[in-house]
Amino acid sequence: MNEKADDRAAGPESGAAFPFPPRPLGRRTLAAAAGTVLALACAAPTQSADPHADMRRGMLEAIADTTARTAGSTGVEAIAPEVMDAIERVPRHEFVPPEIADRAYENRPLPIGHGQTISQPYIVALMTHLLGLDSPHRVLEIGTGSGYQAAVLAELVERVHTIEIVPPLARQAKERLSRLGYRNVEVRLGDGYYGWRAAGPFDAIVVTAAASHVPPPLVEQLAPNGVLVIPVGEQFSVQMLLLVRKHEDGAVSVRQILPVRFVPLTGGH
Ligand code: SAH
Repeated sequence: MNEKADDRAAGPESGAAFPFPPRPLGRRTLAAAAGTVLALACAAPTQSADPHADMRRGMLEAIADTTARTAGSTGVEAIAPEVMDAIERVPRHEFVPPEIADRAYENRPLPIGHGQTISQPYIVALMTHLLGLDSPHRVLEIGTGSGYQAAVLAELVERVHTIEIVPPLARQAKERLSRLGYRNVEVRLGDGYYGWRAAGPFDAIVVTAAASHVPPPLVEQLAPNGVLVIPVGEQFSVQMLLLVRKHEDGAVSVRQILPVRFVPLTGGH
């Protein structure tokens, strides 16, 4: 079971604005800049210092293609440039098992063990875009998995909280994010259905596993004007990606974005 966009029609969604990313120059950008300076200094042919950089750019093209193809359903014509830049900075090959690292930049979900998957890059881009991260937000993710989506969020916002229910995945993601220098992500082991009350309220919540319904605790933990992006529907079937918005007066609206397939949200709730 993987999450993957299904091209059938869903309701439209207008694009979100992203005035500034808090981390305009990621480590990768700096590394690439250093590589360019070195290449010029040595008068060597201009080749990318990072062998993965070209693959990452190819992945971004695939994301842009799928976004354009699904715009009729999602209403999203293009992913915000800040989100694309954030994705370009994250070394996706570090988030998949070593034996499939050469497939890390394909625009598809991949197995990460324990019956779970790292999300398809297009879906990561779309969900991140829909969160509309246009200020120093507090973000909550349910379903840490590999930690990849958390890393993309960490490139864009001040603080990311993420919850994973499978102990080894939570441990590995924590180690990986710390090794890669993501100091603004906090990983917790637990059932994300109940959210993380002590760390909220959140400006944005993203759930990367399919729920049978929108968990009320997550809506409660949304700040005014906060958004929740969540796949809802039957497990092991096609679900609907929903954009839930909590308005200033507390009223909640729901918009259908796209049919998708995610692994199930488990736990005792
Ligand atoms: N966001 C991840 C991929 C998510 S796969 C990434 O970027 O790699 C969905 C994840 O949700 C799995 O790791 C699964 O174990 C986790 N999960 C399922 N039910 C959960 C729950 N109730 N609370 C927290 N995590 C859950």
